[in-house]
Amino acid sequence: MENIIRIENLIFEYMREEGQEPVRAINNITLDIAEGSFTAIIGQNGSGKSTLAKNLNGLLLPTGGAIYVNGWDTRDDEHVWDVRQTAGMVFQNPDNQLVSSIVEDDVAFGPENLGVDPKLIRERVDKALDSVNMGEYKRKAPHLLSGGQKQRIAIAGVVAMRPKCIIFDEPTAMLDPRGRSEIMEIIRDLHRDGITVVLITHFMDEAVKADRVIIMNKGELLLDGTPEEVFEQNELIRSVNLDVPIAVELASRLRSRGIKVPKNVITIEEMVEFVCQYR
Ligand code: ADP
Ligand code: MG
Repeated sequence: MENIIRIENLIFEYMREEGQEPVRAINNITLDIAEGSFTAIIGQNGSGKSTLAKNLNGLLLPTGGAIYVNGWDTRDDEHVWDVRQTAGMVFQNPDNQLVSSIVEDDVAFGPENLGVDPKLIRERVDKALDSVNMGEYKRKAPHLLSGGQKQRIAIAGVVAMRPKCIIFDEPTAMLDPRGRSEIMEIIRDLHRDGITVVLITHFMDEAVKADRVIIMNKGELLLDGTPEEVFEQNELIRSVNLDVPIAVELASRLRSRGIKVPKNVITIEEMVEFVCQYR
Protein backbone atom coordinates (compact mmCIF):
# COMPACT_ATOMS: atom_id res chain seq x y z
CA MET A 1 0.00 0.00 0.00
CA GLU A 2 1.13 3.54 -0.76
CA ASN A 3 1.75 5.91 2.11
CA ILE A 4 -0.67 8.80 1.84
CA ILE A 5 1.13 10.61 4.67
CA ARG A 6 4.85 10.53 5.45
CA ILE A 7 6.18 12.21 8.55
CA GLU A 8 9.94 12.52 8.75
CA ASN A 9 11.65 13.62 11.98
CA LEU A 10 8.88 16.09 12.70
CA ILE A 11 9.54 18.78 15.24
CA PHE A 12 6.99 21.42 16.08
CA GLU A 13 7.54 24.32 18.47
CA TYR A 14 5.05 27.00 19.46
CA MET A 15 6.68 30.39 19.67
CA ARG A 16 6.05 32.42 22.81
CA GLU A 17 6.73 36.01 23.77
CA GLU A 18 10.14 37.56 23.24
CA GLY A 19 12.75 36.12 25.50
CA GLN A 20 10.73 33.00 26.40
CA GLU A 21 11.71 29.53 25.30
CA PRO A 22 9.46 28.04 22.62
CA VAL A 23 7.20 25.12 23.63
CA ARG A 24 8.23 21.92 21.90
CA ALA A 25 4.94 20.08 21.28
CA ILE A 26 6.30 17.45 18.84
CA ASN A 27 9.74 16.02 19.40
CA ASN A 28 11.13 14.10 16.44
CA ILE A 29 8.30 11.90 15.19
CA THR A 30 8.77 9.68 12.16
CA LEU A 31 5.66 7.89 10.94
CA ASP A 32 3.94 6.73 7.75
CA ILE A 33 0.21 6.39 7.24
CA ALA A 34 -0.83 3.86 4.59
CA GLU A 35 -3.55 4.78 2.14
CA GLY A 36 -6.85 3.18 3.14
CA SER A 37 -5.77 2.48 6.72
CA PHE A 38 -7.58 3.34 9.96
CA THR A 39 -5.22 4.66 12.64
CA ALA A 40 -6.24 5.70 16.15
CA ILE A 41 -4.03 8.09 18.10
CA ILE A 42 -4.32 8.29 21.86
CA GLY A 43 -2.37 10.13 24.51
CA GLN A 44 -2.80 12.31 27.57
CA ASN A 45 -3.85 15.94 27.35
CA GLY A 46 -0.93 17.99 26.13
CA SER A 47 0.87 15.03 24.52
CA GLY A 48 0.82 16.76 21.13
CA LYS A 49 -2.06 15.01 19.33
CA SER A 50 -3.82 18.14 18.07
CA THR A 51 -0.52 19.71 17.08
CA LEU A 52 0.29 16.60 15.04
CA ALA A 53 -3.19 16.63 13.46
CA LYS A 54 -2.85 20.27 12.40
CA ASN A 55 0.53 19.52 10.89
CA LEU A 56 -1.00 16.72 8.82
CA ASN A 57 -3.07 19.07 6.71
CA GLY A 58 -0.85 22.12 6.70
CA LEU A 59 -2.74 24.18 9.29
CA LEU A 60 0.59 24.22 11.13
CA LEU A 61 3.92 23.86 9.35
CA PRO A 62 6.88 21.88 10.73
CA THR A 63 9.55 23.68 12.73
CA GLY A 64 11.91 20.82 11.84
CA GLY A 65 11.71 17.71 9.65
CA ALA A 66 8.99 17.40 7.03
CA ILE A 67 5.53 16.07 6.22
CA TYR A 68 4.48 14.81 2.81
CA VAL A 69 0.79 14.45 1.98
CA ASN A 70 0.20 12.54 -1.23
CA GLY A 71 3.82 13.36 -2.00
CA TRP A 72 3.47 17.12 -1.50
CA ASP A 73 5.64 18.81 1.10
CA THR A 74 3.18 20.69 3.35
CA ARG A 75 5.54 23.71 3.30
CA ASP A 76 5.30 24.01 -0.47
CA ASP A 77 3.21 27.17 -1.09
CA GLU A 78 2.01 25.90 -4.45
CA HIS A 79 0.30 22.88 -2.93
CA VAL A 80 -1.37 24.34 0.17
CA TRP A 81 -4.85 23.66 -1.22
CA ASP A 82 -3.93 20.26 -2.61
CA VAL A 83 -2.77 19.27 0.87
CA ARG A 84 -5.89 20.65 2.59
CA GLN A 85 -8.15 18.97 0.06
CA THR A 86 -6.38 15.61 0.37
CA ALA A 87 -6.32 15.59 4.17
CA GLY A 88 -9.56 16.99 5.61
CA MET A 89 -9.94 17.82 9.30
CA VAL A 90 -12.87 17.36 11.67
CA PHE A 91 -12.51 19.04 15.06
CA GLN A 92 -13.97 18.45 18.49
CA ASN A 93 -16.52 21.24 18.58
CA PRO A 94 -18.98 21.20 15.66
CA ASP A 95 -20.13 24.75 16.49
CA ASN A 96 -16.73 26.07 15.46
CA GLN A 97 -16.93 24.32 12.10
CA LEU A 98 -20.38 25.40 10.90
CA VAL A 99 -20.48 28.68 9.03
CA SER A 100 -23.88 28.98 7.31
CA SER A 101 -27.48 29.24 8.47
CA ILE A 102 -28.67 26.39 6.21
CA VAL A 103 -27.23 22.89 6.32
CA GLU A 104 -26.73 22.46 2.57
CA ASP A 105 -24.96 25.81 2.23
CA ASP A 106 -22.66 24.76 4.99
CA VAL A 107 -21.74 21.53 3.27
CA ALA A 108 -21.24 23.41 -0.02
CA PHE A 109 -18.79 25.84 1.55
CA GLY A 110 -15.72 23.60 1.24
CA PRO A 111 -16.22 22.59 -2.42
CA GLU A 112 -17.06 26.22 -3.31
CA ASN A 113 -13.77 27.33 -1.81
CA LEU A 114 -11.96 24.66 -3.78
CA GLY A 115 -13.45 26.12 -6.96
CA VAL A 116 -15.57 23.09 -7.84
CA ASP A 117 -17.90 23.70 -10.82
CA PRO A 118 -21.18 25.03 -9.30
CA LYS A 119 -23.17 22.57 -11.42
CA LEU A 120 -21.44 19.69 -9.66
CA ILE A 121 -21.67 21.07 -6.16
CA ARG A 122 -25.33 20.21 -5.53
CA GLU A 123 -24.75 16.56 -6.32
CA ARG A 124 -21.66 16.45 -4.12
CA VAL A 125 -23.54 18.05 -1.26
CA ASP A 126 -26.44 15.59 -1.54
CA LYS A 127 -24.09 12.61 -1.60
CA ALA A 128 -22.08 13.93 1.34
CA LEU A 129 -25.26 14.48 3.38
CA ASP A 130 -26.48 10.97 2.52
CA SER A 131 -23.15 9.52 3.64
CA VAL A 132 -23.77 10.90 7.15
CA ASN A 133 -27.51 10.06 7.09
CA MET A 134 -28.51 13.72 7.16
CA GLY A 135 -30.08 14.06 3.70
CA GLU A 136 -33.49 15.03 5.05
CA TYR A 137 -32.01 17.90 7.06
CA LYS A 138 -30.51 19.78 4.15
CA ARG A 139 -32.83 22.78 4.37
CA LYS A 140 -32.67 23.00 8.17
CA ALA A 141 -30.73 25.48 10.28
CA PRO A 142 -27.60 23.87 11.81
CA HIS A 143 -28.07 25.64 15.16
CA LEU A 144 -31.34 23.75 15.70
CA LEU A 145 -29.68 20.36 15.44
CA SER A 146 -28.27 18.17 18.23
CA GLY A 147 -24.52 18.06 18.86
CA GLY A 148 -24.21 14.72 17.10
CA GLN A 149 -26.19 15.95 14.09
CA LYS A 150 -24.05 19.08 13.88
CA GLN A 151 -20.93 16.96 13.94
CA ARG A 152 -22.40 14.86 11.10
CA ILE A 153 -22.92 18.06 9.09
CA ALA A 154 -19.33 19.10 9.78
CA ILE A 155 -18.18 15.67 8.55
CA ALA A 156 -20.35 16.04 5.42
CA GLY A 157 -18.66 19.38 4.75
CA VAL A 158 -15.29 17.63 4.71
CA VAL A 159 -16.58 14.62 2.72
CA ALA A 160 -17.94 17.02 0.06
CA MET A 161 -14.37 18.08 -0.65
CA ARG A 162 -13.62 14.44 -1.62
CA PRO A 163 -10.54 14.04 0.58
CA LYS A 164 -8.49 10.84 0.42
CA CYS A 165 -7.83 11.10 4.13
CA ILE A 166 -9.79 12.54 7.07
CA ILE A 167 -8.21 13.43 10.38
CA PHE A 168 -10.72 13.46 13.23
CA ASP A 169 -9.52 15.30 16.35
CA GLU A 170 -11.62 13.97 19.24
CA PRO A 171 -14.83 14.22 17.17
CA THR A 172 -17.02 12.61 19.83
CA ALA A 173 -15.64 14.35 22.92
CA MET A 174 -18.61 16.72 23.25
CA LEU A 175 -21.32 14.20 22.37
CA ASP A 176 -23.65 11.98 24.38
CA PRO A 177 -23.24 8.19 24.07
CA ARG A 178 -25.78 7.96 21.26
CA GLY A 179 -24.15 10.79 19.29
CA ARG A 180 -20.78 9.14 19.86
CA SER A 181 -21.82 5.78 18.50
CA GLU A 182 -23.46 7.39 15.44
CA ILE A 183 -20.27 9.27 14.64
CA MET A 184 -18.20 6.10 15.08
CA GLU A 185 -20.52 4.24 12.69
CA ILE A 186 -20.01 6.99 10.10
CA ILE A 187 -16.26 6.95 10.54
CA ARG A 188 -16.24 3.20 9.98
CA ASP A 189 -18.44 3.57 6.87
CA LEU A 190 -16.11 6.22 5.43
CA HIS A 191 -13.18 3.90 6.05
CA ARG A 192 -15.01 1.03 4.37
CA ASP A 193 -15.56 3.32 1.38
CA GLY A 194 -11.79 3.69 1.07
CA ILE A 195 -11.06 6.89 2.99
CA THR A 196 -7.89 6.84 5.08
CA VAL A 197 -8.90 7.61 8.67
CA VAL A 198 -6.79 9.09 11.45
CA LEU A 199 -8.87 9.21 14.62
CA ILE A 200 -7.61 11.03 17.69
CA THR A 201 -9.64 9.92 20.67
CA HIS A 202 -9.50 9.48 24.40
CA PHE A 203 -12.08 6.69 24.32
CA MET A 204 -10.31 3.34 24.35
CA ASP A 205 -13.39 1.55 23.02
CA GLU A 206 -13.07 3.71 19.90
CA ALA A 207 -9.35 3.06 19.54
CA VAL A 208 -9.80 -0.73 19.55
CA LYS A 209 -11.87 -0.42 16.36
CA ALA A 210 -8.85 0.85 14.37
CA ASP A 211 -6.33 -1.31 12.43
CA ARG A 212 -3.47 0.50 14.08
CA VAL A 213 -3.10 2.27 17.42
CA ILE A 214 -0.48 4.90 18.18
CA ILE A 215 0.12 6.16 21.70
CA MET A 216 1.77 9.55 22.09
CA ASN A 217 3.49 10.78 25.21
CA LYS A 218 5.16 14.19 25.67
CA GLY A 219 5.39 14.88 21.97
CA GLU A 220 6.87 11.48 21.11
CA LEU A 221 5.61 8.08 20.00
CA LEU A 222 5.32 5.66 22.90
CA LEU A 223 3.69 2.69 21.15
CA ASP A 224 2.66 1.88 17.59
CA GLY A 225 1.10 -1.36 16.40
CA THR A 226 -2.11 -3.31 15.98
CA PRO A 227 -4.61 -2.83 18.82
CA GLU A 228 -3.65 -6.32 20.08
CA GLU A 229 0.07 -5.47 20.14
CA VAL A 230 -0.40 -2.09 21.75
CA PHE A 231 -2.91 -3.01 24.45
CA GLU A 232 -0.81 -6.00 25.44
CA GLN A 233 1.50 -3.37 26.99
CA ASN A 234 -1.10 -2.43 29.56
CA GLU A 235 1.44 -1.77 32.32
CA LEU A 236 3.29 0.76 30.16
CA ILE A 237 0.01 2.35 29.11
CA ARG A 238 -1.08 2.76 32.72
CA SER A 239 2.34 4.19 33.62
CA VAL A 240 1.60 7.22 31.43
CA ASN A 241 -1.80 7.66 33.11
CA LEU A 242 -3.92 6.27 30.30
CA ASP A 243 -6.69 3.75 30.62
CA VAL A 244 -6.79 0.48 28.77
CA PRO A 245 -9.97 -0.78 27.07
CA ILE A 246 -12.42 -2.34 29.50
CA ALA A 247 -12.12 -5.81 27.92
CA VAL A 248 -8.31 -5.65 28.21
CA GLU A 249 -8.60 -4.69 31.88
CA LEU A 250 -11.06 -7.51 32.51
CA ALA A 251 -8.85 -10.00 30.64
CA SER A 252 -5.82 -9.11 32.74
CA ARG A 253 -7.81 -9.54 35.96
CA LEU A 254 -9.12 -12.90 34.77
CA ARG A 255 -5.56 -13.98 33.89
CA SER A 256 -4.39 -13.05 37.39
CA ARG A 257 -7.00 -15.54 38.67
CA GLY A 258 -5.60 -18.23 36.37
CA ILE A 259 -8.08 -18.01 33.48
CA LYS A 260 -6.30 -18.18 30.15
CA VAL A 261 -7.82 -15.36 28.12
CA PRO A 262 -6.27 -15.14 24.63
CA LYS A 263 -4.32 -11.98 23.80
CA ASN A 264 -6.60 -11.02 20.93
CA VAL A 265 -9.54 -10.39 23.27
CA ILE A 266 -9.64 -6.59 23.30
CA THR A 267 -13.18 -5.54 22.40
CA ILE A 268 -16.32 -6.10 24.46
CA GLU A 269 -17.70 -8.30 21.66
CA GLU A 270 -14.61 -10.53 21.79
CA MET A 271 -14.84 -10.77 25.58
CA VAL A 272 -18.49 -11.80 25.33
CA GLU A 273 -17.52 -14.50 22.80
CA PHE A 274 -14.78 -15.75 25.10
CA VAL A 275 -16.92 -15.81 28.26
CA CYS A 276 -19.78 -17.59 26.47
CA GLN A 277 -17.56 -20.61 25.81
CA TYR A 278 -17.95 -21.41 29.51
CA ARG A 279 -21.71 -21.75 29.47
P1 ADP B 1 -3.18 17.35 22.88
O1 ADP B 1 -4.03 17.59 21.68
O2 ADP B 1 -2.55 15.99 22.93
O3 ADP B 1 -3.91 17.65 24.17
P2 ADP B 1 -1.72 19.72 22.02
O4 ADP B 1 -1.15 19.40 20.68
O5 ADP B 1 -2.94 20.56 22.07
O6 ADP B 1 -1.93 18.36 22.83
O7 ADP B 1 -0.61 20.45 22.89
C1 ADP B 1 0.74 19.98 22.97
C2 ADP B 1 1.58 20.96 23.77
O8 ADP B 1 1.66 22.20 23.08
C3 ADP B 1 1.01 21.28 25.15
O9 ADP B 1 2.09 21.45 26.02
C4 ADP B 1 0.29 22.59 24.93
O10 ADP B 1 0.25 23.34 26.11
C5 ADP B 1 1.16 23.26 23.89
N1 ADP B 1 0.35 24.15 23.01
C6 ADP B 1 -0.73 23.82 22.28
N2 ADP B 1 -1.20 24.87 21.59
C7 ADP B 1 -0.39 25.91 21.89
C8 ADP B 1 -0.34 27.28 21.50
N3 ADP B 1 -1.22 27.78 20.62
N4 ADP B 1 0.66 28.04 22.01
C9 ADP B 1 1.57 27.54 22.88
N5 ADP B 1 1.58 26.26 23.28
C10 ADP B 1 0.62 25.45 22.81
MG1 MG C 1 -6.08 17.98 21.49
